[in-house]
Amino acid sequence: MSTQWHVLGAGSLGSLWATRLARAGLPVRLILRDPARLAAYEAAGGLTLVEQGHHHFFSIPAQTVDAQEPIERLLVACKAYDAEAAIARLAPRLTANAEIILLQNGLGSQDAVATKVPRARCISASSTEGAFRDADWRVVFAGHGYTWLGDASDPTPPPWLDELVASGIPHQWTPDILTRLWRKLALNCAINPLTVLHDCTNGGLQAHHCEVATLCAELTDLLNCCGQPAAAQDLHSEVERVIQATSANYSSMYQDVANGRRTEISYLLGHACEVAARHGCSMPHMNQLQTRLIRHLQARGLPTL
Ligand code: NAP
Repeated sequence: MSTQWHVLGAGSLGSLWATRLARAGLPVRLILRDPARLAAYEAAGGLTLVEQGHHHFFSIPAQTVDAQEPIERLLVACKAYDAEAAIARLAPRLTANAEIILLQNGLGSQDAVATKVPRARCISASSTEGAFRDADWRVVFAGHGYTWLGDASDPTPPPWLDELVASGIPHQWTPDILTRLWRKLALNCAINPLTVLHDCTNGGLQAHHCEVATLCAELTDLLNCCGQPAAAQDLHSEVERVIQATSANYSSMYQDVANGRRTEISYLLGHACEVAARHGCSMPHMNQLQTRLIRHLQARGLPTL
């Protein structure tokens, strides 16, 4: 009998994982934030996965954070700014050998979670898959990609990777998950805030070539300075490649701001600036970018953390 997958957060990525695990016949339970959300979910009866225009319905059981059932394997699929508080509430339910898989973008939330649950094994993920909710309890699988998984403190792969294979979740176990997370964070810092400030698609940054190059130079220094030389390699050329390959797309931060949603700034640009300050690494343009972005968010009444 397979171990139960508890999935915290039935948002875009949580639903994408939960539905694929359920489709493979694996036992899945959703954990929702409160009785009101549970009642809304139960009224819908389940989650719908929209894939290549086809709708698939899965009546996955759900519970609230306050349920009593012990948790052995937990997939954390909330935003980075919600992860620490959510885990603090779930900590009493974790078994002695619990494993937690963290899907959060950026850096900072993984360490905050690990501190709350020192006995659990925390596995970080970095994903290039794309999904969005077009309605509550309905997720659209928008972009096929890949998920790297790893545990910076233990290179031993967990025993459940074959369950991801059975679920059709493309993934790879890597001992260098920190390199992946830092690289993705650096790409994000070089692109996303500028798309917000210049009100443009990723491709619109081709008109701001010098600004992008300056940020990439500072980010490269930062990565070298904080012990991430592999994440620093050819950063600028990859940023240029991403800008070209995704030129018609609006970045996730752009979409968050445009829709009046809180951004994950503290775990992306904010984290980079904080680590730079800690290492005494000078990043004047990145700091200025952070100030401009915070002002932009404040002007729209959005949280700046
Ligand atoms: P999302 O659609 O906003 O979903 C987050 C979910 O977490 C929401 O359903 C929210 O509940 C739930 N939640 C928050 N606090 C909770 C709590 N205490 N208990 C239970 N549920 C809670 O976010 P997302 O797009 O899936 O992103 C999740 C993470 O994955 C982010 O760090 C994001 O950057 C990263 N990521 C996303 C994608 C993507 O394509 N979406 C791709 C790569 C990485 P409510 O519904 O009640 O608000």
